[in-house]
Amino acid sequence: MAYAGDVTQTEFDRLLDQRGGPALVVHGGAGTRVDADPAPYFEGTRRAAEAGLRVLAQGGSALDAAVAAAVFLENDPNFNAGTGAALTSAGEVELDASCMDGTTLRAGGVACVKTVKNPVLLARRVCDDTPHVLMCATGAEAFARECGIPEVPNALMVTQRQLERWRELHALAQVEGADSVRKKIGTIGAVAVDARGGVAACTSTGGTMYKRPGRVGDTPIIGAGTYADDHEAAASSTGLGEAILKVTLARAACVRVREGASPREAAAFAVGLLRERAQGEGGVIIAGPDGRLGWAYNTPRMSRAMIRAGMSKALAAV
Ligand code: ASP
Repeated sequence: MAYAGDVTQTEFDRLLDQRGGPALVVHGGAGTRVDADPAPYFEGTRRAAEAGLRVLAQGGSALDAAVAAAVFLENDPNFNAGTGAALTSAGEVELDASCMDGTTLRAGGVACVKTVKNPVLLARRVCDDTPHVLMCATGAEAFARECGIPEVPNALMVTQRQLERWRELHALAQVEGADSVRKKIGTIGAVAVDARGGVAACTSTGGTMYKRPGRVGDTPIIGAGTYADDHEAAASSTGLGEAILKVTLARAACVRVREGASPREAAAFAVGLLRERAQGEGGVIIAGPDGRLGWAYNTPRMSRAMIRAGMSKALAAV
């Protein structure tokens, strides 16, 4: 597999296998195009990971850190989440996100939200301020207003780049049928471990390109898109949601860590399962409570970065 990153694969493996938190991994999706300039992906994922580590250094929890990193990526128009998300076949942004705290197993998710700039922050409010785990569409948006999260016009999150992609896919859909063009993917996610072994994860996406309005993938679903348990690990998935849901990818990876695998081995196992059992393409990032980290993907590229205490800057690869 072609490899382009800040350091060699061997050096990455050594850094991932180190023990001791705090540490973070972020991903910018397993759908990164092979012909895309890697520079904005390096830059975006590095800065997000560094933002997350700053939160941990200031005494924030693993969940605070993962959410901070995810917000950073949602605001970066180069990634398919928040501003810059892929458009539905109706030409709108429709966002899904979730988060989970491994110490308490508190979790929150939102699906099909169209008027919230940072859906991961809304998922956090579902997690912290309601007895629920998953809220969707207008009910989730009404809850956002109740929380004081301002309403953002959908068009403000639509970027020129996604509009052009939508026009191309829309033209192609007239010839090939809409379902055949609904395969392109992209997402962002973050996993964090703090110094005492608390883990957390979050994931956010615009979903597959040209998706049907109302379609929900794995991202807001606890166990599939996001999972965290201090007795296992924290994981965030990316890839074709319809396949990831079938193998509950994030939990499959975390369970493997509990059974004794390193996060790197667990990630490779989970992605293998995705391909074998659901013929799915995608990837996963993992943080274990002992501070070891892991990632794996079966697509040509997955944008990602890692950082741990003692590193002055995050290291990225795509
Ligand atoms: N998993 C996301 C979805 O299916 C897309 C992605 O991760 O690339 O909505």
